[in-house]
Amino acid sequence: MDVTPILESLNEAQRQAVTAPAEPLLVIAGAGSGKTRVLTHRAAWLIDVQGLAPESLLAVTFTNKAAAEMRGRIESLLGTPASHLWIGTFHGLAHRLLRRHWRETGLPQNFQIIDSDDQLRLIKRLMKGIGLDDSQWIPREVQYFINAQKDEGLRAKHLDDDGDNNRRQMITLYQSYQELCDRGGLVDFAELLLRAHELLRDNANILAHYQRRFQHLLVDEFQDTNAIQYAWLRLLAGTEGVPFVVGDDDQSIYRWRGARVEHIFQFQKDFPGTSVIKLEQNYRSTATILKAANALIENNSSRMGKNLWTDDEEGEPIRVYSAYNERDEADFIVGRLRDWSEQGNPRADAAVLYRSNAQSRVLEEALMNAGLPYRVYGGLRFFERAEVKDALAYLRLTSHRDDDSSFERVVNKPTRGIGARTLEIMRTHARANACSMWQAASAVINDGLSGRAATAVVAFMSLIERMTRETDGMELHDRVDHVVQLSGLIDHFRKEKGERGETRIENLEELVSAARGYARDPAEEMSELDAFLAHAALEAGEGQADAWEDCVQLMTMHSAKGLEYPLVFLSGLEDGLFPHQRSVADPHGLEEERRLCYVGITRAKRTLYITHAEQRRLHGMDSFAQPSRFLAEIPTELVEEVRPRVQVSRPVRPSSRSSRGSGSMSPAAEIGVRLGQRVRHGKFGDGVILNCEGQGAHARVEVNFETAGTKWLVLGYANLDLM
Ligand code: ATP
Ligand code: MG
Repeated sequence: MDVTPILESLNEAQRQAVTAPAEPLLVIAGAGSGKTRVLTHRAAWLIDVQGLAPESLLAVTFTNKAAAEMRGRIESLLGTPASHLWIGTFHGLAHRLLRRHWRETGLPQNFQIIDSDDQLRLIKRLMKGIGLDDSQWIPREVQYFINAQKDEGLRAKHLDDDGDNNRRQMITLYQSYQELCDRGGLVDFAELLLRAHELLRDNANILAHYQRRFQHLLVDEFQDTNAIQYAWLRLLAGTEGVPFVVGDDDQSIYRWRGARVEHIFQFQKDFPGTSVIKLEQNYRSTATILKAANALIENNSSRMGKNLWTDDEEGEPIRVYSAYNERDEADFIVGRLRDWSEQGNPRADAAVLYRSNAQSRVLEEALMNAGLPYRVYGGLRFFERAEVKDALAYLRLTSHRDDDSSFERVVNKPTRGIGARTLEIMRTHARANACSMWQAASAVINDGLSGRAATAVVAFMSLIERMTRETDGMELHDRVDHVVQLSGLIDHFRKEKGERGETRIENLEELVSAARGYARDPAEEMSELDAFLAHAALEAGEGQADAWEDCVQLMTMHSAKGLEYPLVFLSGLEDGLFPHQRSVADPHGLEEERRLCYVGITRAKRTLYITHAEQRRLHGMDSFAQPSRFLAEIPTELVEEVRPRVQVSRPVRPSSRSSRGSGSMSPAAEIGVRLGQRVRHGKFGDGVILNCEGQGAHARVEVNFETAGTKWLVLGYANLDLM
């Protein structure tokens, strides 16, 4: 057999991992050292050389995108489709198990997945129902509590209040929330994992079946598994299964979601005889980029310590741009992207990364103005948009009347005269009778509601019945289209002024196309509509530009994990934003932020830009910030500062005679200030103007503040009182 395609282009250590005997193996290695490549080649090796059937492998990756890519690569190595190979995210795979074994899990066959917005809405409703004051009990904290318990594998009944009233309340809320979900057949993301774990744990036959089936378990990004994922993996592996896990302790960035890097150590205890392989050569980045990443991560104290090297060229310096504000930053990035694209490079080879989702808005605006197509991963996803979720809620109700979160979402959207009071009556009834909102509605229309309210509720219920009847037997996309038409959403959004309403209508149309293009996995045992709805909830679109369109990639640093791009921008490197304000005071938090920065830097193959802004308006608030401390941790010899390209006037010193006595106005006079002039600033106090540069919107001054030191400020934003 010719094993060349699988083994060529692997170094010695990689080859050793790929061809390792059937025993537990841990590959621990830095960014870009070929971990994912090793995993992919291992799968191909097992199938092609060891002769294993594709169905005896289970491969877990971190995102749906990564899973799709991995499948593609394995298939191209094998030269045949591997349709029976189970490959996906932990959530995706857990979902698949629950669908197959819904009977044993206690879920209804057409259970629905709810995302974190839906979850929050349910929790709010629940809290309101029992009269909890939401200034004292913050719904998001309750949500966090519930998910954190689930991630640890704990049900409410497992928890002890330790005599603490607050905790007792949280546990009660967890319990009631779960009852609400169970009643409606609703499954949140954390529940997918927990239920799938319980399914295997409590059903010896099912467990034995999958243990026999999955002889090899391959896991990428192992450092970011949480307790329940790890427990799931252990169960499936049993005593016979062969786990093959790859990870990097320096890239553990989901501690806040329950991930535990300690599993790397635990693994070696739980699977005695584990071999450990280290990969040390980086194949992704230039030497400069790699040196910067290594220097940064050295500042972390809790590390396993790795020695990552490359024989790639030094490459370009890392370019740092200090922007005046977030718009200047976005313009700069877009300018560089335009050059990149005009030089004939694919736009999809460029990625703009940011710490916080909200940063994307200004970037998107600048890209849109420049006519550069882009795609946002994470955040503003297609299936998460309000109007799309409205339409999906109608669809869900047609197949599943007891879905309370959908019921609440659209019962009065578009408005049909069902007010807060009517809803409250239905909720009270639902609570008292432990039934769904739909059942409550059926009950109170005859007894409890006023004539008008009852008519409105009946109209809504008949609409859902009509949708169900008329779409029965239709093709999926016709079905979606028909429900959208009947829902009245299009007319509703048409009334919304301007582009916004139009975009919403376009998105509804796009949903019909999404349904048309949707191909169900024939192995899934559920109706096409349910499969599509699950797909919508799980995949959440992952981007909005068409897949074939060549576009710039926008994403948070978190969602960039595992990916690589020739050109990368890290934006918003300011203290308070990155590292995030929440984590600067906590050493563990700060180290996690630094790992995130390490992830960001190591996404770049050839060219890396880092930008920060002196002032930033985010969430409607202006802030002044120092450059991120992470910037100072990158050796200066690797960095080149970029000055604004259009510099209207050069800086002048008070002592300079450059413009004095000449006929033209001094730069200071042009922007209406005097060097040496005293000024007052709302936050920094009193100071003296030392210097100025730029014109118009870019005009800025350097002020020596008495207590705050020297700062450059944009005149248009700084609100300086000139004295
Ligand atoms: P990350 O930690 O970011 O997930 P990784 O360790 O998974 O990175 P890969 O994505 O597998 O690394 O590999 C990084 C890049 O190096 C890829 O472009 C890959 O194709 C390339 N690469 C890996 N090993 C080799 C090799 N032996 N020869 C040539 N290129 C390689
Ligand atoms: Mg990888």
